[in-house]
Amino acid sequence: MNNTDLTRFKDTGTLYLSAPEAAELVRRLGLPHCLAHMAEHIRTDFLRWADFDKSARTAAHSKDGVIELMPVADDHRYSFKYVNGHPGNTRLGLSTVKAFVVVAVVDTGAPLFLSELTLTTALRTAAMSALAAQTLARPESRVMALIGNGAQSEFQALAFQHLVGITTLRVFDVDPAASAKLVANLQGSGLHITVCQNTAEAASGADIVTTVTADKTMALILTPDMIEPGMHLNAVGGDCPGKTELHGDILDAAKVFVEYEPQSRVEGEIQHKPADFAVNELWRVLRGERAGRDSAEQVTVFDSVGFALEDFSALRFMMDSAVRLGMGERMALIPQLSDPKNLFGSLNLVTPAALRQQSNCIAA
Ligand code: NAD
Repeated sequence: MNNTDLTRFKDTGTLYLSAPEAAELVRRLGLPHCLAHMAEHIRTDFLRWADFDKSARTAAHSKDGVIELMPVADDHRYSFKYVNGHPGNTRLGLSTVKAFVVVAVVDTGAPLFLSELTLTTALRTAAMSALAAQTLARPESRVMALIGNGAQSEFQALAFQHLVGITTLRVFDVDPAASAKLVANLQGSGLHITVCQNTAEAASGADIVTTVTADKTMALILTPDMIEPGMHLNAVGGDCPGKTELHGDILDAAKVFVEYEPQSRVEGEIQHKPADFAVNELWRVLRGERAGRDSAEQVTVFDSVGFALEDFSALRFMMDSAVRLGMGERMALIPQLSDPKNLFGSLNLVTPAALRQQSNCIAA
């Protein structure tokens, strides 16, 4: 029994962190601080992989996108995230990815924390990518190609700058306005940024290539001719059935790492590959049970799809930070009953007159 969680819930009900407050929290703590702590929280939780009740997310697909639920739990806390992916949304003035989350106390089911997760998803995805690159990329990596310059891209850039040591970005997007937005947003970051005319130009000479494009198709963002010995590929945008970014031959020639294999087999770049195609779950590398990169020339691929445990880790950081900073507001998400067996009493229909009035409403 985690008494702190239960006491907190009894004292405050559900703590609600809105999107503006999550942004304020990140501003107050600093983006590099948040990215570093989220990466460390993810590492800590991946190291205790066996403690978690894990499952692949459930997905409702439509022609324009997907809506998913992502649950995970340890002995103390349960969380589930609602997230969507609709690549055509930006044309309608909506984000491609939007998310929120609930964290509950396992012993009682009490919902402890309700939070935005759109911003937090971008942070945790970038922190996860950086953690994978810290583990798999060549340590001297300084140049990254960043293909796809939409909502996730600046977070990826800054995570790689602060956590991996990237100093130079070579960026490309089919939408030049997206690249211009990235350049404007990262002014003053200290990153040297070159806007390229195509993906091949961006990838040329890069130590790391991050693909974070959005298109519900088997895209060929990276083809074998663009791959150089020793590259680390951080493939983020292909994250559901029928939505990939890499040519299959790249995977055949590389060493491939995934988050949670049962989910990645369905959603990742490896969805095209036979069931016995060799992959390595990253937690085993972090625990020292499997080797990461085998040589400086080897090409490594982090086939990222986004796993519920990463959200769980990021939320531990966001919730604890919100409590520490006194942020968020108390929310009566479920009835607070002095007699838990008297749910009816919460209607305040205790007088015969009040009940009669309700009956009359139904009759009318
Ligand atoms: P977004 O719509 O804001 O940006 C995507 C960008 O990709 C756009 O600017 C678009 O012009 C560009 N693009 C599309 N096709 C391209 C191509 N062929 N070459 C170059 N650029 C291209 O989306 P976002 O929120 O930045 O998300 C990007 C992708 O990352 C989505 O597919 C999303 O589902 C995925 N994602 C994955 C994870 C994960 O954990 N793996 C987490 C969050 C988002």
